[in-house]
Amino acid sequence: MDLRFSDEDEAFRAEARDWLEANLTGEFARLRGRGGPGDEHAFFEERLAWEQHLGAAGWTCIGFPKEYRGRGATLHEQVIFYEEYARARAPGRVGIVGEGLLGPTLLAFGTEEQKRRFLPGIVHGTEVWCQGYSEPNAGSDLANVQTRAVLDGDEWVLDGQKVWTSLAQWSDWCFVLCRTNRDAPKHRGISYLLVPMDQPGVTVQPIVQLTGTSEFNEVFFDGARTAADNVVGDVDGGWKVAMGTLAFERGASTLGQQLAFASELDEIIATARTTGAVDDPVLRQRIADAWIGLRIMRANALRTLSRMVGDELTPEGMITKLYWATWHRELGELAMDALGPRAELADGGPYELSALQRLFLFTRADTIYGGSNQIQRTIIGERALGLPPEPKVAS
Ligand SMILES: Cc1cc2nc3c(=O)[nH]c(=O)nc-3n(C[C@H](O)[C@H](O)[C@H](O)COP(=O)(O)OP(=O)(O)OC[C@H]3O[C@@H](n4cnc5c(N)ncnc54)[C@H](O)[C@@H]3O)c2cc1C
Repeated sequence: MDLRFSDEDEAFRAEARDWLEANLTGEFARLRGRGGPGDEHAFFEERLAWEQHLGAAGWTCIGFPKEYRGRGATLHEQVIFYEEYARARAPGRVGIVGEGLLGPTLLAFGTEEQKRRFLPGIVHGTEVWCQGYSEPNAGSDLANVQTRAVLDGDEWVLDGQKVWTSLAQWSDWCFVLCRTNRDAPKHRGISYLLVPMDQPGVTVQPIVQLTGTSEFNEVFFDGARTAADNVVGDVDGGWKVAMGTLAFERGASTLGQQLAFASELDEIIATARTTGAVDDPVLRQRIADAWIGLRIMRANALRTLSRMVGDELTPEGMITKLYWATWHRELGELAMDALGPRAELADGGPYELSALQRLFLFTRADTIYGGSNQIQRTIIGERALGLPPEPKVAS
């Protein structure tokens, strides 16, 4: 196992770092450190312009093959780019769902026409995507989706409701899990449809979160329509495609995020110094533990990279989501204790929160989305340790 980056990788790192430094200037300078979880509403239009600027320079979707306007970057290079992006405190990406979830899914399961139609909009930041999986009664038990789609001539017609749909209010398209066959067993009657958001049959209702912002939404389909060929994979065979997307969500894209976490920890330490919390022996131990956790994440990311073949997740990769989400949620709690009594006061009413307050509130969600901690443990038990499958409750 070789945990080092090669000289070529380091040259790529220098190129990415220089580009980010040279371009996060002028109108884009104020976007540093803004956007991302808990702060998605900040400078949305400006961040969309940044997304398009990145895309025009070839710095979005760098892992896509060159024939689909990516760079064909290796996994190491992708991780390096994520690291440098975090180091530069570059803004939260508005195209993250398209680049991280739908793009790789289309590359793996899409038709040639679908790749040619949809990948350029993701690369250039001209089409923003959201993920229409969860429903009021289908979260961890995703196969329970009830949103229906029926074929009407050359169009699918959708009826039903999604919930927790991140960024839906800013999205042009949604990939939607729909039930297309009520007679088939639960996992077999689902299709993966690509649905335009700007149409009369789609209503987006933002949900106000703990943070006071509305990053996710209820989405109602009421006779919404999409073309018959906007189905990824086979009709009724969408479960396999949906699981493919989830593997991308839980997988390699999170390997480079420790640098963003490291700057959050730095801010917490600086805050603890000003509030005097740094003198508390227990808090000091928690800071040390957090620092150690960062190193463990780094080491695990590197050994995952060194053992990965293609995009297949290894057992090391399977613990990534559970580990980072739990660590990050505890970091949010540490942030509150570093702030001391100030943690309970907003800068202004009712929701002018500091970055550390937002960190605390939003990290409560980390152990839920992308598969909750309990679900991650089941995946590790079944797939990494080979334990007998979880008993299924008859529905
Ligand atoms: C910030 C955020 C953003 C999100 N963005 C999106 C999005 O863009 N698109 C989208 O489709 N969804 C999104 N989600 C939804 C997310 O995928 C679901 O919240 C998640 O899958 C859990 O489903 P649920 O909320 O219905 O909880 P439930 O599935 O009802 O789970 C409730 C609790 O029961 C536990 N549990 C459930 N089943 C089991 C089991 N078999 N074994 C042990 N424990 C179990 C869970 O771990 C959890 O603690 C988002 C969620 C959050 C918090």
